[in-house]
Amino acid sequence: MSSKITAELTSAYDVSEQLTIGKWFRNIWTTITTVTKGMGITFKYVYGVKPVTIEYPEVREELPANSRSRLFNDAENCISCYQCATACPVDCIYITAVRRDKEAPALKTKDGTPIKLDLMQYTIDTALCCYCGLCTTVCPTECLTHTTDYEFAQYTLDEMKYDYLAPDIRSWRDRIVK
Ligand code: SF4
Ligand code: SF4
Repeated sequence: MSSKITAELTSAYDVSEQLTIGKWFRNIWTTITTVTKGMGITFKYVYGVKPVTIEYPEVREELPANSRSRLFNDAENCISCYQCATACPVDCIYITAVRRDKEAPALKTKDGTPIKLDLMQYTIDTALCCYCGLCTTVCPTECLTHTTDYEFAQYTLDEMKYDYLAPDIRSWRDRIVK
């Protein structure tokens, strides 16, 4: 049985491999056309198509204005209402505020909202944040916003906690807040 199958296969092989002069030229033609077609596609992508990557970090991608990336609290316009912390589903906003001294001069946010509490701490643990945007949605003075900045990787989780009253926050504020 197996010798019969072997014989049939050998016969089929012999027939298909019989090389005529016409088949020889057809093979050459097929080789030339397929290689030309393949290289045509290759060169089209090498020279003719806009690159899909950028030379990061020399070139940086501009994210859409409504991107929900790094959070920023313009703390001078925060009224310590705790609405952002209440709305946060992962409880990663830490606020400490004390009542303002009655004798202290009246303060207002840029939209005219009176500031009745002194903000002592405003920290967001961005390692916990899921960038849902709920905190920015409820903020009555719109001082808490998402920026389009995506370059804030750190080596430790502790460094992912941003204290928005700390001086170093100001150092990146001008770069990322439009
Ligand atoms: S964006 Fe982050 S900080 Fe704001 S509510 Fe969502 S999880 Fe909390
Ligand atoms: S909701 Fe806005 S104003 Fe209220 S505590 Fe949060 S950041 Fe401040």
